[in-house]
Amino acid sequence: MKIYIAVDMEGISGINSHEYVLRTERLYPAGQRLMTADVNAAVRGAFDGGADEVIVADVHSASGNLLVEELDPRAKLLAGTPHQPRFPFLDEQVNGMFLLGYHAMAGTLCANLEHTMTSKAWHKFCVNEKPYGELGIDAEIASESGVPVVMVSGDDKLCEEAAAWLPGVETAMVKQGLGRQSALCLSPQMGNQKVYEHAKRAVERLCEGDAFWLPTVNSPARVAITYKMMPDADKANTYGTRRLDGYTVETTYERLSHMYGGIWKEYGIEQKI
Ligand SMILES: [Zn+2]
Repeated sequence: MKIYIAVDMEGISGINSHEYVLRTERLYPAGQRLMTADVNAAVRGAFDGGADEVIVADVHSASGNLLVEELDPRAKLLAGTPHQPRFPFLDEQVNGMFLLGYHAMAGTLCANLEHTMTSKAWHKFCVNEKPYGELGIDAEIASESGVPVVMVSGDDKLCEEAAAWLPGVETAMVKQGLGRQSALCLSPQMGNQKVYEHAKRAVERLCEGDAFWLPTVNSPARVAITYKMMPDADKANTYGTRRLDGYTVETTYERLSHMYGGIWKEYGIEQKI
């Protein structure tokens, strides 16, 4: 039983503001410790549930956030950018994926640290007219490889989003969002415990033969990005794109994963979060 854990930072137990997730901010080292603790809880849960191989992909910002020397030695760590595809080694050998420490899509009311890929440049991300957050994007990319997302963790809004997109998924709610930069957090220890329990249960369910939801793969995928600033839309409006309005540029891909070229930079992202 092989499990692939994609870990972001905004939805990690105990994290509630941008100061924990930006490399240059004073609480970032604490954010790294909190992130590593949640990952170790998920890895432990996966192995206790029946996994015999676990890959952890550090996908927050430019990667390299986890404290490697403190990682559960049974896990393999995928770190660094850029790489193509978005999730190397995520293939049909993988039985289930966790989206750990994720956050709700851009514009979700009272969601802690909500955004979609970049809060600086992107206002909205739609595939075939449906708004997507990172949960939807990554779940569909996994689905392209036939891998279901079996467990997520984050705030209550992320868990609501997950329940709507991926019925039956295990959800570890580690905080309640009150605003973009405020949340009622469980203690990190309690958060770790919740992550452990849901990770273990998700893998047990896989071992029992539970069929988890695989989202529909859009092909072709018409990806429309609405930018916050018109100059960013002007910049993105190149050969092969369609300008839907002053702020929105649409591009058609055979698969959603094909829009990811190793980095998101060409879409206006300089710094994620
Ligand atoms: Zn992030």
